[in-house]
Amino acid sequence: MNEYDSELVKSILTGAGYEFVADAALADIVMLNTCSVRENAHRKVFGNIHEIRHARKGRSVAIGILGCMATALRKDLLEDKSLALDFVVGPDSYKRLPDILRSVTEDHTQGYDATLSEFETYADVYPSRTDGVNAWVAVMRGCNNFCSFCIVPFTRGRERSRSLNSIVEEVRRLAAEGFPQVTLLGQNVNSYHDSGHDFAALLEAVSRIEGIRRIRFTSPHPKDFPDSLVEVLAHNPKVCKQVHLPLQAGNDRVLDLMRRNYTSADFMQLVGRLRKACPGLALSTDVIVGFPTETDAEFADTMRVMREVRFDTAFMFKYSVREHTRAARELPDDVPEAAKTERIVALNMQQTDISLECNKALVGQVQSVLVEQGSGSRKGAAAYARNDANKVVALVSGQFVPGQFVDARIIRATPHQLKAEPTVS
Ligand code: SF4
Repeated sequence: MNEYDSELVKSILTGAGYEFVADAALADIVMLNTCSVRENAHRKVFGNIHEIRHARKGRSVAIGILGCMATALRKDLLEDKSLALDFVVGPDSYKRLPDILRSVTEDHTQGYDATLSEFETYADVYPSRTDGVNAWVAVMRGCNNFCSFCIVPFTRGRERSRSLNSIVEEVRRLAAEGFPQVTLLGQNVNSYHDSGHDFAALLEAVSRIEGIRRIRFTSPHPKDFPDSLVEVLAHNPKVCKQVHLPLQAGNDRVLDLMRRNYTSADFMQLVGRLRKACPGLALSTDVIVGFPTETDAEFADTMRVMREVRFDTAFMFKYSVREHTRAARELPDDVPEAAKTERIVALNMQQTDISLECNKALVGQVQSVLVEQGSGSRKGAAAYARNDANKVVALVSGQFVPGQFVDARIIRATPHQLKAEPTVS
C-alpha cells in the first residue's frame, strides 16, 4: 500500500511542478513514506533521517514524514528536536502536499496535516508508476475491524471503497500502457463494496479488461469469503490461484483476544472450502507469536494449525505493542522476549520445512511464469519471474524481458525459490 501511496504522491507533486530525483543526497526535499505496523519500522525511519542529514554534510534539505507514522505520532514528530522535521503529512492528506511544501520552502514554517478522512480514496489521481509488470491498485482504504493488536484503523481511518467504475477505468489505462498484471489492494480488500458490487463482482469486472492477464489481491480477511468469491477464485482463469490468508494465531482464546472474529475451526473450514474449489491453491499467511498472555500450550496450537494447513509461505512476527490499540490499553505485554524468540525460531524452522516440501512437489511441472527481472539484471540466473502462485522462479537459461510470459519446467526447489528451465527459449 505504501508503494502505491508513494506513486500517488509522485503524481500529485509532478502535477504541481516538482521533479523527482532517485538519490536523496541530490534532493532539496526528502519524504519518507512510513509504516507503523511494527515498532522496528519506526526505528528504521528515525535511523534513515539521521543518515540523510549526515550524508548532506550541513547542506540544507527539507525532510518530512508521510504515511502511518504521521497519524500514529502526529505533532510529537514535529516537536522532536533531534529529528528536526519540516513537515508531517498523513495518508489522507497527500493532495495538500503542494501547499504544505510551498509554505515549508518559501515561508520556512513547519507543515502539518494528519487529518483522517471518511471519504478520500484518491480515485481521481492516476499514480505515477515506474514498474512495467505489476501495477498496484488500491480499491479501498482504511479498516473497520479493530483487531486488538493493529494500529491500522487509527493510522489509516475508516474503511471506504472506490467506485467500481473508477477502478475499471484505471485498470483499462494500465492495460493500454502494457501492464499484464494488477494487484488489487486494501487493508481488508475482500470487504470491498460499491453500490451493490462486492469484491467478487470487482474481480469479474477487472478480469474482463483485455490485456490484463493476471489479477492478484491482498490482504483479504478470513471472515469475508462468500461463495461468490470462492467461485471467482476457482473459475476465473485470470485470477491467480493464490491467497494470502492471515491466520495470526491458532488458539481460540488468543484469536478471541485478538478480536479476529473466527476460530481455528472456522479458519480450517475456509481453507477446506478454498482447496476443494481450487485444488493446488497456494496459501500464505501472517502469524504473531507471543501475543499478551499466550501460553506455551496455546502457541503449540498455532504450530499445529500451521502444520495442518501447510501454508506455502508465512510471514511471522513477534508481538510488539502498538500505541492506541486495545491490546496496548488492556493487555500486559507479558510474554518474555526469550519466549517470543524461542517460539518464532520454532515456527520458522517448521515453516521452512513445509515451504521446502510444498516447493519440491512442483519439481517436474511445466508452469507459465511472468518475467519480472530480465536477462542480465542480476547475477545467479538468466531471469527472475513469478509463477501463478506468486513464487519466485529463477530461469536458468534463455534471454527474456520483463513482462514476458514463459513456459518453464521446475527443476529445483529451495524453501524460498524455484529454479526452472524454459521449455522454449
Ligand atoms: S483486518 Fe488487518 S488492517 Fe484491519 S485491524 Fe485487523 S489486522 Fe489491522
